[in-house]
Amino acid sequence: MQFLFHKKQIICTDISSFFDPGKNIQVFVARLDQLHPIVSGNKIFKLAYYLQACKQLPEKALLTFGGAYSNHLVATAFACKACGIAATGIVRGEEPEQWSPTLLACKEYGMNLIFVSREAYKKMAASENNKVLLEQYNDPIIVPEGGYGKQGALGASHIMDLLSQQNATHICTAVGTATTLAGLSLAADKSQEIIGIPVLKNISDIPQRLSYLTGKPVLPNIQVFPNYHEGGYAKHTKNEIDFMNRFFEKTQIPTDFVYTGKLMLAISDLVNKNYFNTGSKIICLHTGGLQGNTGLPPGTLIF
Ligand SMILES: *Cc1c(COP(=O)(O)O)cnc(C)c1O
Repeated sequence: MQFLFHKKQIICTDISSFFDPGKNIQVFVARLDQLHPIVSGNKIFKLAYYLQACKQLPEKALLTFGGAYSNHLVATAFACKACGIAATGIVRGEEPEQWSPTLLACKEYGMNLIFVSREAYKKMAASENNKVLLEQYNDPIIVPEGGYGKQGALGASHIMDLLSQQNATHICTAVGTATTLAGLSLAADKSQEIIGIPVLKNISDIPQRLSYLTGKPVLPNIQVFPNYHEGGYAKHTKNEIDFMNRFFEKTQIPTDFVYTGKLMLAISDLVNKNYFNTGSKIICLHTGGLQGNTGLPPGTLIF
C-alpha cells in the first residue's frame, strides 16, 4: 500500500497554540489527508488488505458501495486503477441528472458505476458475499460499504505504525463505521487512550462493531463522545462551519464538514472543558475527506 502514498511519513502539525496555553497540553493533527491527494486519509489503509487479496485473483475484480459523495468510493476507484483492478461501484439512489464531483472522479478512474434505488442498495450493502453480485460482476472481492470489515480494521491498524514514535497519550478519530477506531484499538498501547467522535446521530452499537471488527473484547481505553454529530451524518450546523473557518484561519488546516470538522470541534470543546490532564499529548487524525466539501454551497468555507 505504501506505493500509493506520495509521502512515507505522517506529518504531525502542532496546533497547541490554537488552545489556551494555560492548559499545558500538546495537540497535534496527524495529516493522513496529505498522504495522497485523492486516496487520502484512512481509506487507503482500510482498503489495503482487500486490494492485496484482489491482486492475487485471476479476475482482479472488486466491488464496493457508496453514496454520491462517498470518500470511500472515490478512494477505491483510484486505488483500484493504480493496482490494475477492475472496480465496480454500487451507488445509492437513482442516477442524478448532474453527477457529483465525486462520481465524476470515480468515472475518470475507470470505475464501473451502477445506480440502484435506496431500498435495493440497503439490501445489497447489508448482505455479505451476495451471490447475485458475485455472479454478475466477475466474482469480485466485495468490500463492504466504508470498508467495514475485519480486513479493513487490520488495514487501519497500520495507521498506528506511522505514529508509534510520537508517544501520544491520546489518539482521536472521527467515527463512521468504527473500522478505523477498531484498527487503532488493535495497535495502540494499553496506556494510550483512544477517543472516537461519531458523526452519526444515535449510533448505539459501537461496542458491538468493535468486538466484531477486532474479534476481541472491547478495551477499556476507548472513549466515545456521541454528542458532537452536529445534526448527524453529512449534516452540519452554523456552529460547525464557523468553527471550521476559525480553525483554518488559526492553523491553516482545512477540515471536512462530514468528519474532521466535527472531530476538531469536539476535541476543542473537550480541551476547553479540561477533559485532558496537564501534560497530555493529543494526536487528532486528519482522516482526509476534503473532497466531500464539494457538496457545500460555494462560499460556505473560506478555504
Ligand atoms: C470514512 C471516513 C471516516 C470514518 O472512518 P470509519 O472507519 O468508517 O469509522 C473518518 N474520516 C473521514 C474523512 C472519512 O472519509
